[in-house]
Amino acid sequence: MAHGQHLAIAGAGAAGLFCAGVALALGHRVTLVEAMDAPGKKLAITGKGRCNLTNDCDADTFLKNIRHNPRFLHSAIAAFPPAAAMDWFQNRLGVPLKTERGRRVFPQSDDARDVVEALVRAAKGAEWLRGRVFAILTENGRATGFKLEDGRTVLADAVLVATGGLSYPGTGSTGGGYALAKQAGHTIVPAVPSLVAMVEQGGTARQMAGLAPRNVVLRLLQDGREVFAEQGEMLFTHFGVSGPLALSASAYLGDMEKHRYQVSVDWKPALTAEQLDARLLRDFGEAAARTAAHSLDKLLPSAARPVLLARWGVDAATRVNQITRRQRLALAGLLKDFRLDIAARGSLQHAVVTAGGVAVKQVNPKTMQSRLLPGLYFAGEVLDVDGYTGGYNLQIAWATAYAVAQAQADNG
Ligand SMILES: Cc1cc2nc3c(=O)[nH]c(=O)nc-3n(C[C@H](O)[C@H](O)[C@H](O)COP(=O)(O)OP(=O)(O)OC[C@H]3O[C@@H](n4cnc5c(N)ncnc54)[C@H](O)[C@@H]3O)c2cc1C
Repeated sequence: MAHGQHLAIAGAGAAGLFCAGVALALGHRVTLVEAMDAPGKKLAITGKGRCNLTNDCDADTFLKNIRHNPRFLHSAIAAFPPAAAMDWFQNRLGVPLKTERGRRVFPQSDDARDVVEALVRAAKGAEWLRGRVFAILTENGRATGFKLEDGRTVLADAVLVATGGLSYPGTGSTGGGYALAKQAGHTIVPAVPSLVAMVEQGGTARQMAGLAPRNVVLRLLQDGREVFAEQGEMLFTHFGVSGPLALSASAYLGDMEKHRYQVSVDWKPALTAEQLDARLLRDFGEAAARTAAHSLDKLLPSAARPVLLARWGVDAATRVNQITRRQRLALAGLLKDFRLDIAARGSLQHAVVTAGGVAVKQVNPKTMQSRLLPGLYFAGEVLDVDGYTGGYNLQIAWATAYAVAQAQADNG
């Protein structure tokens, strides 16, 4: 291994911090340049402040959970799979971990700040600069350093752009890395929000704004065909649907100009349509004098009742013993398949991840080095790779950062 390579890193987020720690452990010299007043701002809010830092799955399962360009990640994940990340965090960085439902891995403390602090500790031996990288310096066809917005320069043997995507710009992700990549001739695949709320066409969700059912199945339908289905928690908002299920489903949205998308909510996932009908029949029989308006009392949260009643189309004052079989079946249908038309993705600013970024064809998948400008590397969300929810996006950051740190050994 060649010691003493000097690596300059733009961005002290998940990928930049991780790479710094690994590179230092391998005996390299590191300069970290961060635009914000503190490192790891986005990392500190991941997983609702608990940081779902990876997914305890094998490399194949991992790649199946990558939405764009899984093949590009093949080598990096083979070299640094989730098991290696877990080992690194527990045994090298001293962060005890636990695994929850869906193999999601969190720090035992349930505190994302512990992850940030451990990464910062591991990167202590780096030279830290507060500033915004503005240009890549080159000499003889190689990247040789950074120029900062305030005019300072950093000279190095290699440079890493780990500036993240475009979502949650308040954490520092303002897309500056795309401009740096463009300077070197890289193609940028247009940024699109992923893992984001969905905007409804029509005002149905608005009528239930604030309602967060905890045990529903949310399906996403593309031109009537199911492309996503999961059970869990969602949130109705003034503009559409959000919460964990909606965010996960949004990764399956394709070209919204070409396809029609609908969300279907199953309010009673524990019951089949037949079981639900039998229950309605029993409920209606037990309280024959109850009105249609009250027939939903035991079935739905109060905010949802008027909305479903209006869709059902049965007069609120109708007594349940007057409800026809057809009407009853229609109600069961609504409870199992309540549709909302989706008009758009929520905004990029509020997306959990940015899809799009530096086109992977122009990047070496083993080392993350630019194929256009030797000495220039990329890691993390700035690349055109993104995963579903479950810790996959941070694992992308760790694995690509690890590949960059390892590659420095071959540079000498
Ligand atoms: C609310 C939320 C929750 C999330 N939860 C999870 C989760 O639980 N699990 C998961 O796997 N993923 C999660 N993600 C996604 C995950 O946080 C990102 O994929 C990951 O942080 C990307 O790492 P990165 O290092 O590429 O970019 P970032 O972590 O965004 O870091 C980029 C850094 O670069 C700095 N920077 C930008 N431009 C410049 C410049 N020109 N010069 C110097 N510095 C610059 C920024 O200030 C920032 O510090 C979540 C995202 C959000 C928004």
